[in-house]
Amino acid sequence: MMSEPDKHRKLKIQNGLLAWFGVKGRHFPWRETRDPYAVLLAEKLLQQTAARPDVVQAYHSLLAAFPSPAALAKADGTAVRDMIQSLGLHYRSQELITLAREIVLGYKGHVPNDLKALLAIHGVGDYTARAVLCFAFGQDVPIVDTNIARILYRLFELPGPFPANPARKRSLLELAGELLPKGQSREFNLAMLDLGALVCTHSAPECGICPLSSICAFAAAKAEE
Ligand code: SF4
Repeated sequence: MMSEPDKHRKLKIQNGLLAWFGVKGRHFPWRETRDPYAVLLAEKLLQQTAARPDVVQAYHSLLAAFPSPAALAKADGTAVRDMIQSLGLHYRSQELITLAREIVLGYKGHVPNDLKALLAIHGVGDYTARAVLCFAFGQDVPIVDTNIARILYRLFELPGPFPANPARKRSLLELAGELLPKGQSREFNLAMLDLGALVCTHSAPECGICPLSSICAFAAAKAEE
């Protein structure tokens, strides 16, 4: 069981990260919208794919051609496949159409704002469901992907397996939930994603420019070496 971050440390993490995000946060079109369908589409495109320019292009193409779940539910599989082929995601075209059909049939064409309902939709996993709830619906929901898990492991010097096993994933979600600044969870979660992509990277964490270095166990251990 992980220890709960103390209040002082938690505040420093929240404030440091949010201030950093205000200056260094990345800009993507799916961050400019609160449309749950657009956010869901983006998350599907981003699964196992970095946020590259061709992902932005595919996102715009899909939304322009299929601006709603109802439109995507009626789509021709070839048209969808052509739009995401360059990402190596051609195999995901039918999944997107099935997902849209389930939203149309089960939720009158509206992406549900409930974790259980989202998880019941074809192709929507735990991370994607939570991302939609947080980024589109503004709910105070923790998210943990590989990047965020890595930050938490380093920040709190967590022992044990990485990537996390299912039990550890649950504890990581609890810890991520403890850190959330209520009412600013969207910005905080986006900041964690950006820190993992830009600073606390897998192979070369740049602790010298990290907003969390003064409270990071990994950075402290590194400084002592
Ligand atoms: Fe990652 Fe270093 Fe920042 Fe800690 S101080 S979160 S290890 S980049």
